Amino acid sequence: MQRPKSHAIFSRAKELMPGGVNSPARAFGGVGGEPVVFERAAGAYLFDVDGNQYIDYIGSWGPMILGHQHPQVVAAVREAIEKAFSFGAPSPGENELCELICQLVPSIEMVRLVSSGTEATMSAIRLARGYTGRDRIIKFAGNYHGHVDSLLVAAGSSAATLGVPNSPGVTAGTTQDTIVCRYNDVANLEEVFTEHGSTIAGVIFEPIVGNMGTVVPTPDFLQTLRELTWKHGALLICDEVMTGFRVSAGGAQQLLDITPDITTLGKIVGGGMPIGAYGGRKEIMEHILPAGKVFQAGTLSGNPVATAAGIATLKLLRDQPPYEKLDQLGKLLGDGLLAAAHEAKIPATLTRVGSMLTLFFNDMQPTDWDGASKSDTTRFARYFWGLLNRGVYMPCSQYEALFVSAAHTEADIQQTIDTAKEVLAGFGA
Ligand SMILES: *Cc1c(COP(=O)(O)O)cnc(C)c1O
Repeated sequence: MQRPKSHAIFSRAKELMPGGVNSPARAFGGVGGEPVVFERAAGAYLFDVDGNQYIDYIGSWGPMILGHQHPQVVAAVREAIEKAFSFGAPSPGENELCELICQLVPSIEMVRLVSSGTEATMSAIRLARGYTGRDRIIKFAGNYHGHVDSLLVAAGSSAATLGVPNSPGVTAGTTQDTIVCRYNDVANLEEVFTEHGSTIAGVIFEPIVGNMGTVVPTPDFLQTLRELTWKHGALLICDEVMTGFRVSAGGAQQLLDITPDITTLGKIVGGGMPIGAYGGRKEIMEHILPAGKVFQAGTLSGNPVATAAGIATLKLLRDQPPYEKLDQLGKLLGDGLLAAAHEAKIPATLTRVGSMLTLFFNDMQPTDWDGASKSDTTRFARYFWGLLNRGVYMPCSQYEALFVSAAHTEADIQQTIDTAKEVLAGFGA
Protein backbone atom coordinates (compact mmCIF):
# COMPACT_ATOMS: atom_id res chain seq x y z
CA MET A 1 0.00 0.00 0.00
CA GLN A 2 1.47 3.33 -1.09
CA ARG A 3 1.09 6.48 1.00
CA PRO A 4 3.15 9.27 -0.63
CA LYS A 5 0.79 12.07 0.43
CA SER A 6 0.64 10.80 4.01
CA HIS A 7 4.43 10.75 4.05
CA ALA A 8 4.72 14.32 2.73
CA ILE A 9 2.18 15.71 5.19
CA PHE A 10 3.69 13.88 8.14
CA SER A 11 7.20 15.05 7.21
CA ARG A 12 6.04 18.66 7.40
CA ALA A 13 4.02 17.92 10.57
CA LYS A 14 7.22 16.88 12.36
CA GLU A 15 8.52 20.41 11.93
CA LEU A 16 5.29 21.97 13.14
CA MET A 17 4.28 19.74 16.05
CA PRO A 18 6.36 17.72 18.54
CA GLY A 19 6.77 14.29 16.93
CA GLY A 20 4.42 15.44 14.19
CA VAL A 21 1.31 14.80 16.30
CA ASN A 22 -1.00 16.40 18.82
CA SER A 23 -1.21 13.34 21.05
CA PRO A 24 1.52 10.70 21.40
CA ALA A 25 -0.71 7.59 21.15
CA ARG A 26 -1.28 8.22 17.46
CA ALA A 27 2.42 8.50 16.53
CA PHE A 28 3.01 4.73 16.08
CA GLY A 29 5.72 4.81 18.78
CA GLY A 30 4.85 1.26 19.85
CA VAL A 31 5.18 -0.22 16.36
CA GLY A 32 7.69 2.04 14.59
CA GLY A 33 7.20 3.79 11.27
CA GLU A 34 4.98 6.67 10.26
CA PRO A 35 1.32 7.24 11.07
CA VAL A 36 -1.28 7.41 8.33
CA VAL A 37 -2.82 10.82 7.61
CA PHE A 38 -6.58 10.65 7.15
CA GLU A 39 -9.01 12.66 5.09
CA ARG A 40 -12.45 11.31 5.86
CA ALA A 41 -14.41 8.54 7.53
CA ALA A 42 -17.75 6.85 6.95
CA GLY A 43 -19.39 4.11 9.02
CA ALA A 44 -16.74 1.49 9.79
CA TYR A 45 -14.21 2.85 7.28
CA LEU A 46 -11.40 5.36 7.17
CA PHE A 47 -9.95 6.92 4.02
CA ASP A 48 -6.42 8.30 4.02
CA VAL A 49 -5.15 11.27 2.02
CA ASP A 50 -3.83 8.89 -0.65
CA GLY A 51 -7.27 7.36 -1.20
CA ASN A 52 -6.60 4.06 0.60
CA GLN A 53 -9.48 2.53 2.54
CA TYR A 54 -9.25 0.83 5.94
CA ILE A 55 -11.63 -1.01 8.26
CA ASP A 56 -11.39 1.02 11.46
CA TYR A 57 -10.96 -0.69 14.82
CA ILE A 58 -9.91 2.39 16.77
CA GLY A 59 -12.99 4.56 16.38
CA SER A 60 -11.03 7.65 17.46
CA TRP A 61 -9.88 5.62 20.53
CA GLY A 62 -13.43 4.85 21.57
CA PRO A 63 -15.94 7.63 20.87
CA MET A 64 -17.25 6.39 17.52
CA ILE A 65 -19.36 3.50 18.83
CA LEU A 66 -22.05 4.21 16.21
CA GLY A 67 -19.50 4.34 13.42
CA HIS A 68 -18.35 7.51 11.70
CA GLN A 69 -20.76 10.14 10.38
CA HIS A 70 -23.94 8.60 11.74
CA PRO A 71 -26.63 10.59 9.88
CA GLN A 72 -28.57 11.50 13.04
CA VAL A 73 -25.47 12.75 14.80
CA VAL A 74 -24.40 14.75 11.74
CA ALA A 75 -27.89 16.30 11.51
CA ALA A 76 -27.87 17.27 15.20
CA VAL A 77 -24.48 18.95 14.87
CA ARG A 78 -25.57 20.83 11.70
CA GLU A 79 -28.64 22.11 13.49
CA ALA A 80 -26.60 23.27 16.49
CA ILE A 81 -24.02 25.05 14.33
CA GLU A 82 -26.76 27.11 12.69
CA LYS A 83 -27.65 28.54 16.12
CA ALA A 84 -24.31 29.19 17.83
CA PHE A 85 -20.80 27.85 18.28
CA SER A 86 -20.48 28.82 21.94
CA PHE A 87 -22.28 30.91 24.53
CA GLY A 88 -20.20 30.60 27.69
CA ALA A 89 -23.62 30.77 29.31
CA PRO A 90 -26.35 28.20 30.06
CA SER A 91 -28.04 26.49 27.10
CA PRO A 92 -30.79 23.81 27.05
CA GLY A 93 -28.58 21.12 25.54
CA GLU A 94 -26.62 20.95 28.80
CA ASN A 95 -29.78 19.91 30.66
CA GLU A 96 -30.61 17.38 28.02
CA LEU A 97 -27.18 15.74 28.04
CA CYS A 98 -27.00 15.70 31.85
CA GLU A 99 -30.52 14.18 32.04
CA LEU A 100 -29.42 11.42 29.67
CA ILE A 101 -26.27 10.74 31.68
CA CYS A 102 -28.23 10.51 34.95
CA GLN A 103 -30.83 8.30 33.32
CA LEU A 104 -28.33 5.88 31.81
CA VAL A 105 -25.91 5.81 34.77
CA PRO A 106 -28.04 5.66 37.93
CA SER A 107 -25.16 6.22 40.40
CA ILE A 108 -24.94 9.73 38.91
CA GLU A 109 -27.47 12.20 40.32
CA MET A 110 -25.65 15.37 39.34
CA VAL A 111 -23.09 16.07 36.62
CA ARG A 112 -20.44 18.63 35.70
CA LEU A 113 -19.53 18.77 32.00
CA VAL A 114 -15.93 19.45 30.98
CA SER A 115 -14.07 19.14 27.67
CA SER A 116 -11.90 16.01 28.00
CA GLY A 117 -11.46 12.82 29.97
CA THR A 118 -8.32 14.25 31.57
CA GLU A 119 -10.27 17.22 32.87
CA ALA A 120 -12.90 14.87 34.28
CA THR A 121 -10.44 12.69 36.24
CA MET A 122 -8.38 15.69 37.39
CA SER A 123 -11.53 17.36 38.71
CA ALA A 124 -12.88 14.15 40.26
CA ILE A 125 -9.78 13.63 42.39
CA ARG A 126 -9.85 17.30 43.43
CA LEU A 127 -13.47 16.81 44.46
CA ALA A 128 -12.61 13.64 46.41
CA ARG A 129 -9.90 15.53 48.25
CA GLY A 130 -12.10 18.58 48.85
CA TYR A 131 -15.01 16.47 50.03
CA THR A 132 -13.05 14.23 52.42
CA GLY A 133 -10.46 16.78 53.53
CA ARG A 134 -7.82 14.09 52.90
CA ASP A 135 -4.80 14.07 50.56
CA ARG A 136 -3.98 10.57 49.34
CA ILE A 137 -5.26 8.95 46.15
CA ILE A 138 -4.81 5.30 45.21
CA LYS A 139 -4.39 4.36 41.55
CA PHE A 140 -3.43 1.12 39.86
CA ALA A 141 -0.39 0.27 37.77
CA GLY A 142 -1.32 0.08 34.10
CA ASN A 143 -4.49 2.15 34.52
CA TYR A 144 -4.51 5.42 32.59
CA HIS A 145 -6.54 8.41 33.67
CA GLY A 146 -5.34 11.07 31.25
CA HIS A 147 -2.31 13.30 31.72
CA VAL A 148 -3.18 14.52 35.20
CA ASP A 149 0.13 15.40 36.93
CA SER A 150 -0.53 13.55 40.15
CA LEU A 151 -1.65 10.40 38.30
CA LEU A 152 1.38 10.22 36.00
CA VAL A 153 3.32 8.03 38.36
CA ALA A 154 5.51 5.02 37.75
CA ALA A 155 3.59 1.85 37.06
CA GLY A 156 6.37 -0.02 38.87
CA SER A 157 6.15 -3.73 39.48
CA SER A 158 6.58 -3.55 43.26
CA ALA A 159 3.33 -4.01 45.11
CA ALA A 160 2.82 -0.53 46.50
CA THR A 161 5.12 2.16 45.30
CA LEU A 162 4.65 5.61 46.71
CA GLY A 163 4.30 7.84 43.70
CA VAL A 164 7.39 8.45 41.63
CA PRO A 165 6.69 10.71 38.64
CA ASN A 166 7.17 9.09 35.23
CA SER A 167 7.28 12.23 33.16
CA PRO A 168 9.84 15.00 33.36
CA GLY A 169 8.01 18.10 34.53
CA VAL A 170 5.89 16.25 37.07
CA THR A 171 7.38 17.11 40.44
CA ALA A 172 7.90 14.66 43.29
CA GLY A 173 5.73 17.00 45.38
CA THR A 174 2.80 16.61 43.01
CA THR A 175 2.84 12.83 43.18
CA GLN A 176 3.77 12.30 46.83
CA ASP A 177 0.12 11.73 47.74
CA THR A 178 -0.44 9.11 45.04
CA ILE A 179 -0.18 5.45 46.02
CA VAL A 180 0.19 2.93 43.20
CA CYS A 181 -1.31 -0.52 43.78
CA ARG A 182 -1.46 -3.68 41.71
CA TYR A 183 -4.67 -4.27 39.76
CA ASN A 184 -6.69 -7.30 40.89
CA ASP A 185 -4.52 -7.65 44.02
CA VAL A 186 -6.85 -7.76 47.02
CA ALA A 187 -4.12 -8.29 49.62
CA ASN A 188 -2.19 -5.28 48.34
CA LEU A 189 -5.26 -3.09 48.67
CA GLU A 190 -6.00 -4.35 52.19
CA GLU A 191 -2.43 -3.69 53.24
CA VAL A 192 -2.46 -0.12 51.94
CA PHE A 193 -5.80 0.68 53.57
CA THR A 194 -4.63 -0.79 56.87
CA GLU A 195 -1.59 1.45 56.83
CA HIS A 196 -3.00 4.64 55.29
CA GLY A 197 -6.82 4.28 55.52
CA SER A 198 -7.57 7.47 57.44
CA THR A 199 -5.61 9.63 54.96
CA ILE A 200 -7.03 8.22 51.71
CA ALA A 201 -9.40 10.58 49.90
CA GLY A 202 -10.27 8.20 47.10
CA VAL A 203 -9.40 5.32 44.82
CA ILE A 204 -9.49 5.89 41.07
CA PHE A 205 -9.64 2.85 38.80
CA GLU A 206 -10.63 1.57 35.39
CA PRO A 207 -13.53 -0.85 35.99
CA ILE A 208 -12.45 -2.80 32.91
CA VAL A 209 -8.95 -1.78 31.90
CA GLY A 210 -8.44 -0.69 28.31
CA ASN A 211 -5.14 1.10 28.73
CA MET A 212 -2.85 -1.90 29.19
CA GLY A 213 -4.85 -3.79 26.62
CA THR A 214 -8.15 -5.19 27.80
CA VAL A 215 -7.85 -6.53 31.35
CA VAL A 216 -10.86 -7.67 33.36
CA PRO A 217 -11.27 -7.21 37.13
CA THR A 218 -12.10 -10.16 39.40
CA PRO A 219 -15.39 -9.94 41.34
CA ASP A 220 -13.36 -10.21 44.53
CA PHE A 221 -11.24 -7.22 43.62
CA LEU A 222 -14.29 -5.06 42.84
CA GLN A 223 -16.01 -6.05 46.06
CA THR A 224 -12.90 -5.32 48.12
CA LEU A 225 -12.55 -1.92 46.48
CA ARG A 226 -16.11 -1.01 47.39
CA GLU A 227 -15.95 -2.37 50.93
CA LEU A 228 -12.62 -0.83 51.86
CA THR A 229 -13.51 2.61 50.54
CA TRP A 230 -16.81 2.54 52.44
CA LYS A 231 -15.19 1.31 55.62
CA HIS A 232 -12.48 3.96 55.56
CA GLY A 233 -14.59 6.89 54.35
CA ALA A 234 -12.77 7.21 51.00
CA LEU A 235 -14.56 7.85 47.70
CA LEU A 236 -14.57 5.25 44.94
CA ILE A 237 -13.94 6.95 41.59
CA CYS A 238 -14.86 4.77 38.66
CA ASP A 239 -13.06 6.01 35.55
CA GLU A 240 -15.47 5.10 32.76
CA VAL A 241 -14.00 7.45 30.17
CA MET A 242 -13.46 4.39 27.97
CA THR A 243 -16.06 1.90 29.25
CA GLY A 244 -18.93 4.36 29.72
CA PHE A 245 -21.70 3.67 27.16
CA ARG A 246 -19.28 1.17 25.55
CA VAL A 247 -19.71 -2.12 27.42
CA SER A 248 -23.39 -1.39 28.16
CA ALA A 249 -25.63 1.69 28.11
CA GLY A 250 -24.90 2.08 31.83
CA GLY A 251 -21.18 1.38 31.43
CA ALA A 252 -19.02 -1.13 33.29
CA GLN A 253 -20.72 -0.27 36.57
CA GLN A 254 -24.02 -1.57 35.23
CA LEU A 255 -22.43 -4.64 33.67
CA LEU A 256 -20.41 -5.54 36.77
CA ASP A 257 -22.85 -4.24 39.37
CA ILE A 258 -20.60 -1.68 41.09
CA THR A 259 -21.90 1.51 42.69
CA PRO A 260 -19.13 4.10 42.72
CA ASP A 261 -19.28 7.47 44.48
CA ILE A 262 -17.98 9.42 41.50
CA THR A 263 -17.90 8.42 37.82
CA THR A 264 -15.77 10.02 35.14
CA LEU A 265 -16.88 9.99 31.52
CA GLY A 266 -15.43 11.07 28.16
CA LYS A 267 -15.06 9.63 24.66
CA ILE A 268 -18.57 8.33 23.74
CA VAL A 269 -20.32 10.97 25.87
CA GLY A 270 -19.27 13.57 23.27
CA GLY A 271 -20.07 11.43 20.22
CA GLY A 272 -16.72 12.42 18.67
CA MET A 273 -16.74 16.00 19.97
CA PRO A 274 -14.60 17.10 22.94
CA ILE A 275 -16.66 16.41 26.06
CA GLY A 276 -15.80 14.90 29.40
CA ALA A 277 -18.03 14.68 32.46
CA TYR A 278 -17.90 13.71 36.09
CA GLY A 279 -20.83 13.01 38.33
CA GLY A 280 -22.09 11.22 41.39
CA ARG A 281 -24.38 11.66 44.35
CA LYS A 282 -25.82 15.14 44.69
CA GLU A 283 -24.48 15.48 48.21
CA ILE A 284 -20.93 15.02 46.88
CA MET A 285 -21.33 17.01 43.65
CA GLU A 286 -22.71 20.03 45.53
CA HIS A 287 -19.22 20.57 46.92
CA ILE A 288 -18.24 21.93 43.50
CA LEU A 289 -18.19 25.70 42.91
CA PRO A 290 -20.54 27.64 42.79
CA ALA A 291 -22.78 25.27 44.82
CA GLY A 292 -19.78 24.48 47.04
CA LYS A 293 -16.14 25.48 47.41
CA VAL A 294 -14.14 23.07 45.24
CA PHE A 295 -12.97 25.15 42.27
CA GLN A 296 -13.43 23.87 38.73
CA ALA A 297 -14.29 25.87 35.61
CA GLY A 298 -14.14 25.84 31.80
CA THR A 299 -14.71 28.45 29.07
CA LEU A 300 -16.07 25.90 26.57
CA SER A 301 -17.66 23.49 29.08
CA GLY A 302 -21.17 22.48 28.00
CA ASN A 303 -20.49 23.78 24.50
CA PRO A 304 -23.73 23.64 22.45
CA VAL A 305 -22.24 21.98 19.35
CA ALA A 306 -20.48 19.32 21.40
CA THR A 307 -23.53 18.64 23.57
CA ALA A 308 -25.64 18.23 20.42
CA ALA A 309 -23.33 15.41 19.24
CA GLY A 310 -23.38 13.83 22.70
CA ILE A 311 -27.17 13.99 23.02
CA ALA A 312 -27.76 12.47 19.58
CA THR A 313 -25.29 9.66 20.33
CA LEU A 314 -26.63 8.79 23.79
CA LYS A 315 -30.24 8.88 22.56
CA LEU A 316 -29.43 6.41 19.80
CA LEU A 317 -27.64 4.16 22.31
CA ARG A 318 -30.64 4.36 24.65
CA ASP A 319 -33.40 3.92 22.06
CA GLN A 320 -31.76 1.45 19.67
CA PRO A 321 -29.24 -0.30 21.92
CA PRO A 322 -26.54 -1.91 19.73
CA TYR A 323 -24.98 -3.87 22.58
CA GLU A 324 -26.20 -7.31 21.63
CA LYS A 325 -24.98 -6.86 18.07
CA LEU A 326 -21.69 -5.41 19.33
CA ASP A 327 -21.18 -8.41 21.58
CA GLN A 328 -21.82 -10.83 18.71
CA LEU A 329 -19.46 -9.00 16.38
CA GLY A 330 -16.88 -8.70 19.15
CA LYS A 331 -17.08 -12.43 19.80
CA LEU A 332 -16.80 -13.27 16.13
CA LEU A 333 -13.73 -11.06 15.78
CA GLY A 334 -12.09 -12.17 19.04
CA ASP A 335 -12.59 -15.88 18.37
CA GLY A 336 -11.36 -15.44 14.80
CA LEU A 337 -8.19 -13.54 15.72
CA LEU A 338 -7.28 -16.00 18.45
CA ALA A 339 -7.87 -18.96 16.15
CA ALA A 340 -5.72 -17.31 13.47
CA ALA A 341 -2.85 -16.93 15.96
CA HIS A 342 -3.16 -20.49 17.21
CA GLU A 343 -3.35 -21.88 13.67
CA ALA A 344 -0.04 -20.16 13.02
CA LYS A 345 1.30 -21.66 16.30
CA ILE A 346 1.82 -18.24 17.82
CA PRO A 347 1.30 -17.97 21.59
CA ALA A 348 -1.62 -15.62 22.17
CA THR A 349 -4.59 -14.92 24.43
CA LEU A 350 -7.67 -12.88 23.80
CA THR A 351 -9.42 -10.70 26.34
CA ARG A 352 -12.81 -9.25 25.49
CA VAL A 353 -15.74 -7.48 27.07
CA GLY A 354 -18.44 -6.85 24.47
CA SER A 355 -16.96 -4.69 21.72
CA MET A 356 -13.62 -3.94 23.40
CA LEU A 357 -10.92 -6.55 23.02
CA THR A 358 -7.20 -7.25 22.85
CA LEU A 359 -5.22 -10.05 21.25
CA PHE A 360 -2.19 -10.36 23.52
CA PHE A 361 0.93 -11.99 22.12
CA ASN A 362 1.33 -13.65 25.48
CA ASP A 363 0.60 -17.22 26.53
CA MET A 364 -0.83 -16.07 29.88
CA GLN A 365 -4.05 -14.09 30.22
CA PRO A 366 -2.93 -10.80 31.85
CA THR A 367 -4.66 -9.76 35.06
CA ASP A 368 -2.41 -6.80 35.85
CA TRP A 369 0.38 -4.70 34.38
CA ASP A 370 3.11 -7.21 35.29
CA GLY A 371 1.34 -9.84 33.21
CA ALA A 372 0.37 -7.56 30.34
CA SER A 373 3.89 -6.14 30.03
CA LYS A 374 5.28 -9.62 29.28
CA SER A 375 3.57 -9.58 25.86
CA ASP A 376 5.68 -9.86 22.71
CA THR A 377 5.53 -6.30 21.38
CA THR A 378 7.90 -7.03 18.49
CA ARG A 379 5.49 -9.65 17.20
CA PHE A 380 2.62 -7.26 17.77
CA ALA A 381 4.33 -4.60 15.62
CA ARG A 382 4.70 -7.07 12.76
CA TYR A 383 1.07 -8.10 13.06
CA PHE A 384 -0.02 -4.45 13.16
CA TRP A 385 1.90 -3.49 10.01
CA GLY A 386 0.74 -6.61 8.17
CA LEU A 387 -2.87 -5.67 8.86
CA LEU A 388 -2.43 -1.97 8.16
CA ASN A 389 -0.90 -2.57 4.75
CA ARG A 390 -3.85 -4.83 3.91
CA GLY A 391 -6.45 -2.24 4.90
CA VAL A 392 -7.17 -3.01 8.56
CA TYR A 393 -6.55 -0.16 11.02
CA MET A 394 -5.89 -1.60 14.50
CA PRO A 395 -4.62 0.29 17.57
CA CYS A 396 -0.90 0.92 17.12
CA SER A 397 0.09 -0.59 20.46
CA GLN A 398 -0.22 -3.97 22.17
CA TYR A 399 -1.46 -2.01 25.18
CA GLU A 400 -4.59 -0.49 23.67
CA ALA A 401 -8.00 -2.08 23.31
CA LEU A 402 -9.54 -2.34 19.87
CA PHE A 403 -13.16 -1.36 19.35
CA VAL A 404 -15.90 -2.70 17.14
CA SER A 405 -18.65 -0.22 16.20
CA ALA A 406 -22.31 -0.67 15.39
CA ALA A 407 -21.44 0.17 11.77
CA HIS A 408 -19.25 -2.93 11.33
CA THR A 409 -20.81 -5.87 9.48
CA GLU A 410 -20.13 -9.56 9.72
CA ALA A 411 -18.48 -9.27 6.32
CA ASP A 412 -16.06 -6.63 7.68
CA ILE A 413 -15.21 -8.90 10.59
CA GLN A 414 -14.74 -11.93 8.35
CA GLN A 415 -12.49 -9.96 6.03
CA THR A 416 -10.45 -8.86 9.04
CA ILE A 417 -10.08 -12.44 10.29
CA ASP A 418 -9.00 -13.64 6.83
CA THR A 419 -6.47 -10.84 6.67
CA ALA A 420 -5.15 -11.69 10.16
CA LYS A 421 -4.79 -15.35 9.10
CA GLU A 422 -2.77 -14.35 6.07
CA VAL A 423 -0.55 -12.03 8.13
CA LEU A 424 0.04 -14.44 11.00
CA ALA A 425 0.63 -17.44 8.74
CA GLY A 426 3.45 -15.48 7.14
CA PHE A 427 5.31 -15.22 10.47
CA GLY A 428 6.82 -18.69 10.04
CA ALA A 429 9.00 -20.05 12.81
C1 LIG B 1 -8.90 8.20 27.26
C2 LIG B 1 -8.96 8.05 28.73
C3 LIG B 1 -8.76 9.15 29.59
C4 LIG B 1 -8.33 10.50 29.09
O1 LIG B 1 -9.29 11.11 28.30
P1 LIG B 1 -8.82 12.31 27.29
O2 LIG B 1 -10.10 12.76 26.69
O3 LIG B 1 -7.86 11.70 26.34
O4 LIG B 1 -8.20 13.35 28.14
C5 LIG B 1 -8.95 8.95 30.94
N1 LIG B 1 -9.29 7.75 31.44
C6 LIG B 1 -9.48 6.68 30.65
C7 LIG B 1 -9.88 5.37 31.25
C8 LIG B 1 -9.30 6.79 29.27
O5 LIG B 1 -9.45 5.71 28.50
